[in-house]
Amino acid sequence: MRWSTVTTRLLVLASWLGRSLGAAVQPNLCVFCGVRCRLQGPPICTPCHTDLPWIDRACPRCAKPVVADLSAGVCCAVCQQDPPPFTTTVAALSYSFPVDAAIKAMKFRRKLFYVPAFVHTLLISAEKLPAGIDALLPVPLHWRRQARRGFNQAAELCGPISKQTGIKPINNVVRRRPTPYQSGLAATLRRGNLRFAFSVQGQVRARHVLIVDDVITTGETCRELAQVLLDAGAEKVSVLAIARA
Ligand SMILES: [Zn+2]
Ligand SMILES: [Zn+2]
Repeated sequence: MRWSTVTTRLLVLASWLGRSLGAAVQPNLCVFCGVRCRLQGPPICTPCHTDLPWIDRACPRCAKPVVADLSAGVCCAVCQQDPPPFTTTVAALSYSFPVDAAIKAMKFRRKLFYVPAFVHTLLISAEKLPAGIDALLPVPLHWRRQARRGFNQAAELCGPISKQTGIKPINNVVRRRPTPYQSGLAATLRRGNLRFAFSVQGQVRARHVLIVDDVITTGETCRELAQVLLDAGAEKVSVLAIARA
């Protein structure tokens, strides 16, 4: 073996050792309180996990928190009057402290260290989803907003979920026009704001698509996106989000 080959191999080995040792000694800290967590586990300590604003009872269709227990198959009044195009929505957490602050930090201040913690809560919620999901769709951002932000938070969450579940994301859906933030609009303007906001390039070949998003505020984004997916060939759409406003 030539010396150059030996040196290259030694350098590769040293860099691998360095990275492995770095990963091993870097503590896994709770994203909410900074306490040291189990190395292989999610970065949320048990007390913070317990204290998260978990939603007790919710509409199975839109994940809106409800006061009374709904019997199986019954939706909230809004879904009964105006059924959304998706069949199930799961969002385990309420959009209140500390989840709201963490999501805003992740989205607007690039605090992507929250991603593994939220992927953990999303995977817990995902157990409530119906079987047969064969594609994931992170809610697309308009290219200009994505360029400004540098990433799409829904795609950041979707990547590890895809890796864990083996379900592939679809990538032929685009947001074709920038839309103002839903939260800043009156209820009557929200639906109009999103009309024709998304389009599918070609066909959707999956049967049951799971839309993945960070927070559901009004549900209008998911309504619009689900309808576009159904029109493009999907048979069923479900929604998974970290939190419900
Ligand atoms: Zn903690
Ligand atoms: Zn509902």
